[in-house]
Amino acid sequence: MKFAGAMDNADLKPLIQVRDCWKSFPGKASETIHVLEHVNLDIHEGEFVCIVGPSGCGKSTLLNIIGGFIKESRGQVRVDGSPVNGPSPKRIFVFQENGVFPWLTVEENVGFGLMSRPQKEREERVSHYIEMVGLKGFEKSYPRELSGGMRQRVEIARALAADADVLYMDEPFGALDFLTRLKMRADLIRIWQAEKKTILFVTHDIEEAVQLADRVVVMSRRPATVAETVTVELARPRDLDAPGYLSTRDRIFDIM
Ligand code: ADP
Ligand code: MG
Repeated sequence: MKFAGAMDNADLKPLIQVRDCWKSFPGKASETIHVLEHVNLDIHEGEFVCIVGPSGCGKSTLLNIIGGFIKESRGQVRVDGSPVNGPSPKRIFVFQENGVFPWLTVEENVGFGLMSRPQKEREERVSHYIEMVGLKGFEKSYPRELSGGMRQRVEIARALAADADVLYMDEPFGALDFLTRLKMRADLIRIWQAEKKTILFVTHDIEEAVQLADRVVVMSRRPATVAETVTVELARPRDLDAPGYLSTRDRIFDIM
């Protein structure tokens, strides 16, 4: 089976196009902090791309520009051919901090973006995605009754249920314990394969990036020019013992 992966889509028009993007912030005195300088990036439909780089290099800034939460200082970001003008329900953010509503149950959270749909369709989608993220049986639970990993699953299910084409994930597993993180990675790959979403995933964890992505975009220390796109050529499910993993990881580390 063939679909828009990293290797065979060079001729397709990218879904997300970042062209010579710059971002600066006013600093403390009258200086200007340049966070992004001439960043170029293409992301194709169906790709799972990880942006990896050290803390403070501008990953969140770049993701927030692509997602429409902040405006670039210079350059252009296009999604689906149009300049980005604010956040869109077709493209959903999954944050590290919990975005689930504490006063709603799991099923109410997952169905949150579906209020305008017919009730039957809503119920079907909600139960489908609750099952997909492994929360069957917890439909009536409240977020406070769940672990951090389960709350993150609720958020992912909500994004999927709302039928977003693109998921923007900013260190979504950063607050989770090690084993939960490993499990979430495996599940996210499975979900991505089943749903054919485009995923743009930000992390400072090289191992996580290599395990998840079709393609790893490496940002170096400030100024955070996107230094290189590393295409990971390991088989799925990602196997950290597979040949090639260590050299890929070291290459990324050198660039960072
Ligand atoms: P990362 O996500 O890679 O850790 P960020 O994109 O959050 O990095 O931040 C990159 C740099 O930009 C940091 O030095 C941060 O302090 C600075 N920065 C981010 N947002 C702002 C802002 N609104 N005002 C001033 N500086 C900011
Ligand atoms: Mg960040």
